[in-house]
Amino acid sequence: MTSTSSRGIHHVTAIAGPASRNVRFYTETLGLRLVKRTVNFDDPGTYHLYYGDEVGSPGTVLTFFPYEHAAPGRLGVGETQETVFRVPEGSIGWWTQRFIEKGVAFEPIVKRFGETVLAFKDPDGMRLALVAVSGAGLEPGWSDDTIPAEYAIRGFHSVSLLLEELAPTGAILTDVFGFREIGSEGSTTRFAVESATTGGIVDIRSVGGFLKPRPGAGSVHHVAFQAVDDAEQAAMVKRLAENHRITTTEQLDRNYFRSVYFREPGHVLFEIATNAPGFAVDEPAAELGTSLKLPAIYEANRAEIEAVLPKLALNEPIAA
Ligand code: ZN
Repeated sequence: MTSTSSRGIHHVTAIAGPASRNVRFYTETLGLRLVKRTVNFDDPGTYHLYYGDEVGSPGTVLTFFPYEHAAPGRLGVGETQETVFRVPEGSIGWWTQRFIEKGVAFEPIVKRFGETVLAFKDPDGMRLALVAVSGAGLEPGWSDDTIPAEYAIRGFHSVSLLLEELAPTGAILTDVFGFREIGSEGSTTRFAVESATTGGIVDIRSVGGFLKPRPGAGSVHHVAFQAVDDAEQAAMVKRLAENHRITTTEQLDRNYFRSVYFREPGHVLFEIATNAPGFAVDEPAAELGTSLKLPAIYEANRAEIEAVLPKLALNEPIAA
C-alpha cells in the first residue's frame, strides 16, 4: 500500500429512539461529550447528534439519527453487530457497578483475543461493549465529573461486522483502508491498523445463512473510515474503482468533514470521511454541542426546523 495511509475508523452512525433518552444515556451514563447538535443534512427535521472525546477526535465519534417513534431494529447478516469502546485497564469492575446502578443491561465479562470485554446495550438495544486496554489510562480522558477521568472511555476499540463472507470485505479493509489481518477466534477474524490508537480494529464475524437485518432503533447505519484530507480520500476512491469495481457517491460536504459513501461487498454502508475541518469549525471548542448548529443551506429555515425537533431538555435534572 503506497497511495493511502492507515488510520482506521472515523465515526460510527446509528439509529436511535427518543433524542432526550439518547443524550442522557451517552452523556450521563457513558460520560461521552455531546460534541455537536445538528440535523440530518438529508432529513433536516431529524437531529444528528455526535458524541466523542473532548474535541470529537476521529476514532472517538459515535453519532445518532434519533426518531421519537422508531421501531426497534433486528440484527441480520450484512450489518454492523457491535460497537466497542476502549477503557483503561482495571476499570471494568467500576463500569459493571455503574451499569448495575443505572439499570443498564450487560452480559457476563468475557475474554476476546486475550482482552477483557464487558458487552452491554443502550436503551434502544444497540450492541455495545467496553474493552480494557493496557496503557489507555495514560491517555487523556474527557470528564465533566459524571465519570472520573481515570475510568472514562478512550474512543473506539473496534466494530464487528456480521457478514456472509469474510474475504470480499476483508479485501476492502486491507487494500483500501490499510488494515492487516491479525488473527481469528471462532468465527471472528480480526483486522487492525496497528499504528492507530483509537478505532484501529474491525472484526468480521462470518456466518452463512443468517437472517437479513431489519434496520431500526439500535441499528448501526454506517461505519466511516478516516482519510486525512481530500487527496487521500480521492486515492481511496480510485483504489475502490480500479481494484474492486466499486463506485462511491460524489463527495458530500458534512460541514465537519467531507464524505463519500459506498456499499461494501458484504452490504454494510461504508463512508470515507476527511479528518478536517473538525467540530470546532462552527462553534468554539469550549461550547461544542451546547446549541443547535445548522449548515448554511438550512439557516433560513431555522425557526421551522427548531419547531419540529423534540426538546432535548438537557438542563433538567436527570431522573434516577
Ligand atoms: Zn457518517
